[in-house]
Amino acid sequence: MKSHRKELWFETPARRAFINITPQVEEAVRASGVREGLVLVNAMHITASVFINDDEAGLHRDYERWLEGLAPHEPVSSYEHNRTGEDNGDAHLKRQIMGRETVVAITAGKLDFGPWEQIFYGEFDGRRRKRVLVKVIGE
Ligand code: ZN
Repeated sequence: MKSHRKELWFETPARRAFINITPQVEEAVRASGVREGLVLVNAMHITASVFINDDEAGLHRDYERWLEGLAPHEPVSSYEHNRTGEDNGDAHLKRQIMGRETVVAITAGKLDFGPWEQIFYGEFDGRRRKRVLVKVIGE
């Protein structure tokens, strides 16, 4: 069995962002030489997500509004977690609902997506260096 590991690094200028990382994952699959297998893609931080959905700007604004409705950033004093001196209580909750990782099948050397599926990095507490793990396994 082949395996290939890669880290993708991000430092978003804003606190929150959605970034399409499909090209980087495709590149990791190419570099692995795997034709039949799986790729795991996971955020390595507890205030960021990796998820699959449509690359459509309106949907991303809908996510932002929906997540701010569920877990508004302000007032930061409303989160018990922030009593530690942090201000990212909301980001932990946003990460939980958007998920830690995704797994995609590799068939004939390509990501075996359904219609419109793309892989996104969801940042909820940015403005610092953070990373995503890509692990490819297969034959
Ligand atoms: Zn925290």
